[in-house]
Amino acid sequence: MYHSKFNPQERVEIWNKLLKNRYNIIIGARSALFLPFNNLGLVIVDEEHDSSYKQYDPAPRYHARDAAIYLSQLHGAKTILGSATPSIESYFNAQTEKYSLVELKEQFSQQSLSEIIPVNTKKETRERKMQSHFSSVLMSEIKKALDQEEQIILFQNRRGYSSYLECRTCEWVPQCPNCDVHLTYHKQKNELCCHYCGFKRNPVTKCEACGSTAIQVVGFGTEKIEDELKTFFPEVKVGRMDADNIRTRSGHDKIIGDFEEKKLQVLVGTQMVAKGLDFDHVSLVGVMNADQLLMFPDFRSAERAYQMIEQVSGRAGRKNYAGKVIVQTERPEHYVLQFLQQRDYKGFYNHELLQRQRFGYPPYTRLIKLSFKHKEQHKAQAAAIDMAKALAPVLQHRLLGPAEPYINRIKNQYIIELLCKLEKNQALIKSAKETIMQERDYILAVKGNHAMQIEVNVDPF
Ligand SMILES: [Zn+2]
Ligand SMILES: [Zn+2]
Repeated sequence: MYHSKFNPQERVEIWNKLLKNRYNIIIGARSALFLPFNNLGLVIVDEEHDSSYKQYDPAPRYHARDAAIYLSQLHGAKTILGSATPSIESYFNAQTEKYSLVELKEQFSQQSLSEIIPVNTKKETRERKMQSHFSSVLMSEIKKALDQEEQIILFQNRRGYSSYLECRTCEWVPQCPNCDVHLTYHKQKNELCCHYCGFKRNPVTKCEACGSTAIQVVGFGTEKIEDELKTFFPEVKVGRMDADNIRTRSGHDKIIGDFEEKKLQVLVGTQMVAKGLDFDHVSLVGVMNADQLLMFPDFRSAERAYQMIEQVSGRAGRKNYAGKVIVQTERPEHYVLQFLQQRDYKGFYNHELLQRQRFGYPPYTRLIKLSFKHKEQHKAQAAAIDMAKALAPVLQHRLLGPAEPYINRIKNQYIIELLCKLEKNQALIKSAKETIMQERDYILAVKGNHAMQIEVNVDPF
């Protein structure tokens, strides 16, 4: 087994043993790709659609699935990509016969498929049926499940992320002094913190803009869901599973164990509850806010939402028993939810593919994102403009930006971005890469630019 949590000595040991052919199989995380294989025959990439295969920071910013395919090629080995919800790229490669496709048509363990039911929270809000973040439909399904002594999983994307403090008088929100984000409020630890740079401070009791003491908690993290549930159902045992709550392996195992033994009736969690867990007594899954997934501002949001909801819905139901998945959304007519309800991955794929073609996104193009970072915004801006000028003759309409990203300052560095959308034309990609590298060296060599960071990220999403 190999992953980055091993210490350097352990890693050296595995490295050396592999050199001496002492292993037949290596099970590893991304970094296992860089081990010294000399007789590689097969690489299996499980859950190939998972976005955590991409390494964002620091460099090398590689995608481990694609690197695995390349590694196999170098060794003349075979690759198997496994997924119940393949990435659009991989399925496209199968449809265009670059890959071959094997479909498993029968459900593992003959579990019945759960029923996916979107609930319109906009309508429920208008009709005053919502109780805080719980729709009337979800409430009544929770009661029903509890009455029948069945278990429930409530899924809320991301951790405490969207809980923050706000002044009720003037709407002032405490911000991170180093980054362009508001500070997240963690009730249990009673602190405000920044998930980008780690900055921490005590919660404010008085507005720093108008002096009002009417400070309220806004938002919708896992912690908040857990709290509200305890108010609505005081007698119910609730567990929470997110990165804040589960720092250690044993903490993780304890919650899973307690839930399996039915010491807990409800599990509230992030992505963590979606991954590879099988419970026997879960009849209901609630997706608290699907809009967070559907409306995420990048071209892959629909694909990710489809995969995520399909995965959490797999936690509901058991042998010969179909569970229910309540999906709370303001957009019940969204095509992702329509195709999910029909369990129509191919329909979703075809619809999504048309969008990608129309707007020039992968699998029809390759993307290269360039980020210019500097503590002075005008310097980052000027560097991006220089790069754009150099690229314009090569790329023409294929270049987007310079633009400020959604979060435009992290750790006191301002960020300006360029995005290149390249058709799969080797000559074009080659000259784009050459121009980028040349111009980068040129910009970094300019006097006064030594503190500039220019990051090049191929396939950035
Ligand atoms: Zn105020
Ligand atoms: Zn910060």
